[in-house]
Amino acid sequence: RLYLDHNATAPLRPQARAAMIEALDVAGNPSSVHGDGRRARGIVEGAREALAALCGVKARSVIFTGGATEANALALSPAWHDASGPVYPDRLIMSAVEHPSVRSGGRFPPRQIRTLEVDRDGRVDLDHLDRLLAEGGTPLVSVMAANNETGVIQPLAEIGARVAAVGGLFHVDAVQAAGRLALTPKDWHASAISLSAHKMGGPQGVGALVLSSSAVAPSALLVGGGQEHHRRAGTENVAGIAGFGAAARALADSSAEISRLAGLRALLEHGLRHICSDSIIFGADVERLANTVCFAVPGVPAELALIACDLKGVSLSSGSACSSGKVGVSHVLSAMGVEEDLARCALRLSLGWTSTEADVARFLDLWREVAGRLNPASVHRAA
Ligand code: PMP
Repeated sequence: RLYLDHNATAPLRPQARAAMIEALDVAGNPSSVHGDGRRARGIVEGAREALAALCGVKARSVIFTGGATEANALALSPAWHDASGPVYPDRLIMSAVEHPSVRSGGRFPPRQIRTLEVDRDGRVDLDHLDRLLAEGGTPLVSVMAANNETGVIQPLAEIGARVAAVGGLFHVDAVQAAGRLALTPKDWHASAISLSAHKMGGPQGVGALVLSSSAVAPSALLVGGGQEHHRRAGTENVAGIAGFGAAARALADSSAEISRLAGLRALLEHGLRHICSDSIIFGADVERLANTVCFAVPGVPAELALIACDLKGVSLSSGSACSSGKVGVSHVLSAMGVEEDLARCALRLSLGWTSTEADVARFLDLWREVAGRLNPASVHRAA
């Protein structure tokens, strides 16, 4: 099969698999003081160091969680503390294009939630942010580093500087940015960033909330045992964390890989436009992740195209959110002002460490056939 859905889950990296297999044979509980426990503890702390190095923070700033949904839920807390004592954000400002796990608002009641608009390219409207920040009080602002559907990158340093100027807290869902953008929470003035192992070539079900400084943290979501310095109770997922750490190490120097992906994406986009000259690539005019293409061809419904590709062994995603069996239009594209008919044609291709030029060529051949079948008029025919 051809896998073009790295933003949903990236295939497990061999280094992560090897680290996990080794960790599965360690019997100890990381909280036990005996030798077996200390071995498990060593695995967890080694991974913590790797994650901290990737984000330019101290190891103690990394809180392991059961994935980014949990890391986001932990961050969206109306009770934090910093070096000077408790901080109580009185409202949550989040962008209109956040992942559903942020859009749920975490522990904030709906009346304390404000939605920050984005422009037609999917970037947050900084004037709107200024107006929301002018309301006073202590806001918690949550904006993702890069969007999972479109790959559009947000102006994080500009957002963070504005939030810092009013004494607010800033949370960044950096799940899609890991390995594709430098993770620099300090430059972003971010209080905390969320990461997910399975978007980096690690396993599913493990993630982290990485604090810019261990002095600033949200109140715990899970309490009980004192794990993770009382910030996340529960015996650590040692094998999962081992795989997460190995994936983080594999991303330590990703600039060559980012350029390689940008080259593949350029080939892909050139091919899409050549096959269907009225292809629309969302966010094409702004900075985007090198691995992500969200595009639509009018008159080629995404759901049908997705099934046709799947039948030919190709995995990709549609831009429409599919929850509880009901196909709705993507909230990301709606927030960008994309009309419903066009949004229903949106497909997402996301590349990664397994992707090759041959993959791109195979997809483009298939796309010519699928688009030509679903909407013959859309396809450019060579004379
Ligand atoms: N945030 C973003 C931007 C995502 O793409 C995802 C995964 N779809 C999540 C959060 C949730 O991560 P997890 O699957 O680890 O809960």
